[in-house]
Amino acid sequence: MHPSHQDIIDFIRALYPSKDSKTDALIALHAPLFAGNEKKYLLDCIDSTFVSSVGAYVTQFEQSVTTTTGAKHAIATVNGTAALHIALLLAGVKAGEEVITQPLSFVATCNAIAYCNAKPVFVDVNRHTLGMNPASLLDFLSNHCLINSQGCFNKATGRRIAAVLPMHTFGLPCDLEQLIAICAEFNLPLIEDAAESLGSYYHQQHTGTFGLLGTLSFNGNKTITTGGGGMILTNDDELARRAKHLTTTAKLAHPYEFVHDDIGYNYRLPNINAALGCAQIEMLPQLLASKRKIAQAYASFFADTRYTLVKEPDNTHANYWLNAVICPTPSARDQFLTELIAANIMVRPIWTLVNTLPMYADCQAMDLANAQWLVERVVNLPSSARFDLPR
Ligand SMILES: *Cc1c(COP(=O)(O)O)cnc(C)c1O
Repeated sequence: MHPSHQDIIDFIRALYPSKDSKTDALIALHAPLFAGNEKKYLLDCIDSTFVSSVGAYVTQFEQSVTTTTGAKHAIATVNGTAALHIALLLAGVKAGEEVITQPLSFVATCNAIAYCNAKPVFVDVNRHTLGMNPASLLDFLSNHCLINSQGCFNKATGRRIAAVLPMHTFGLPCDLEQLIAICAEFNLPLIEDAAESLGSYYHQQHTGTFGLLGTLSFNGNKTITTGGGGMILTNDDELARRAKHLTTTAKLAHPYEFVHDDIGYNYRLPNINAALGCAQIEMLPQLLASKRKIAQAYASFFADTRYTLVKEPDNTHANYWLNAVICPTPSARDQFLTELIAANIMVRPIWTLVNTLPMYADCQAMDLANAQWLVERVVNLPSSARFDLPR
């Protein structure tokens, strides 16, 4: 059985019925859902006049994130890219060094590396997790690096490898157990880009809490949103203290003097954004339940067809942030995209591989056959939580 494009369009329209029963209304890829205390907390925040980088909602939101993720510390930032930037600095990434990452990611992952004046090195992804492939990482470290008392050095460039930065693509946890073992063997810090995986668990532990540091994003298209926002996660008390310090202009606490002991950043999440986050995170269980139902509906629809719906890997519990289907051929992917977008259904291809973007084209890359295979076939499907949640 192979559903026609019209069958797929009809199925998605039934999944997301339009309120005014328009037959061609736009169906978004991922729209936020405000069905809780958002307006209440926003009004309260405005009434308090504390709308900027100081306020009770920021602290409350950080606490809610520690409760949700089990991380010991959570430090709120203006966005997920800023969170990644600080996490890399705290892991010890310095100018002229290298960070191993995956080419299949949103560009922010590599931009954060570049903000440290460091360079990405690209290893391949796994076709099932869509995240960093441990075999490719091990191959690079074993065959392309030298270990000495100063650390791990890239034989080709002579640069020190400072960190490993995998990403949990579309909320699917990557092979953390193996990645952690390899990082331990080569004495490299692991940082998780968990921007897409709030509510995703690996062996029942929340993603973003396995590495030395992890980061989340609350951009408008993510599982929950603060408008724009991010979070640094860590279990290390000292790293948490420095994360807070660096994201708040490195100002020393004092009743009135302005003394700063480092070049800090104005990266603190504003209270007004945190107010939205406090309301959104209260709804997280319902949002996740709804997203899981949508994933199940897609899974049954695409079962026994030439399309393969991407499923959560074994021993993981994914948030199903964005559902993804693997088309049988690259040309089938192109037709899928063209016809669904023409029908006003927002589907999209996976990102252009970051190593092919002009800014990163000169960076070292291992064999990226899996990433290339996926890019030619994967399409993301509309995955918003539905609007029939209890109030
Ligand atoms: C969303 C996202 C980020 C962070 O994005 P911001 O818009 O800065 O919050 C980082 N990495 C990945 C993979 C993302 O999807």
